[in-house]
Amino acid sequence: MKPNNWNNCESAAAIGRSPKILIDNGHGIDTPGKRSPDGVLREYAWNRHIAGRVVSALTDLGHDAALLVPEQEDIPLPERCRRVNELCRLLGRDNVILITIHANAAGRGDRWYDATGWCAYTTRGDSRADALASCLYDAAKFHLPGQRIRTDYTDGDPDLEADFYIIRRTLCPSVLVENMLMDSHRDCDFLLSANGQQAIVNLHVDGICRYLASAV
Ligand SMILES: [Zn+2]
Repeated sequence: MKPNNWNNCESAAAIGRSPKILIDNGHGIDTPGKRSPDGVLREYAWNRHIAGRVVSALTDLGHDAALLVPEQEDIPLPERCRRVNELCRLLGRDNVILITIHANAAGRGDRWYDATGWCAYTTRGDSRADALASCLYDAAKFHLPGQRIRTDYTDGDPDLEADFYIIRRTLCPSVLVENMLMDSHRDCDFLLSANGQQAIVNLHVDGICRYLASAV
């Protein structure tokens, strides 16, 4: 196994300063579209598979991690945000983090595209989400060798910025991750492979651990 920062993660958990980690899996079984052109990768299912493994791995490390949407159907964004913000009010906004897991698409699922790459989004402007995203980027560079990492350094950090509903309407540090492109043959094969899925799980866990270690 490659070296990683999970020891930091364990120490952060051990001293009791680990925040509530919410993992959101985008979309639901009833969401139209959102699949690879051959229909093999269904985004709602892939997101749930990865999210479940990330929560299990974090829990095994002693963290307080949970799925935001255990349901199979699509839970509307206002309800997702309500769940997050209820915990933010209860625990304090800096004692909660949210990562929403997706796979991206270059088109509408009608054909394969050549575009590839992993990226993460925060809202526009500076917040603690930028530090969380930067840790995820560090982990992505480590766990996705040879894969394209999409960045935008115009504001001094690697993440892309867009005011997506769930990261804009939640009070805690929130990052939306687009795990490569499901309508790229190259990326889709990776996303469906055992090694690729393990790398994606590892990068989320490692990125969160890097953030927790830096925030302690
Ligand atoms: Zn999505």
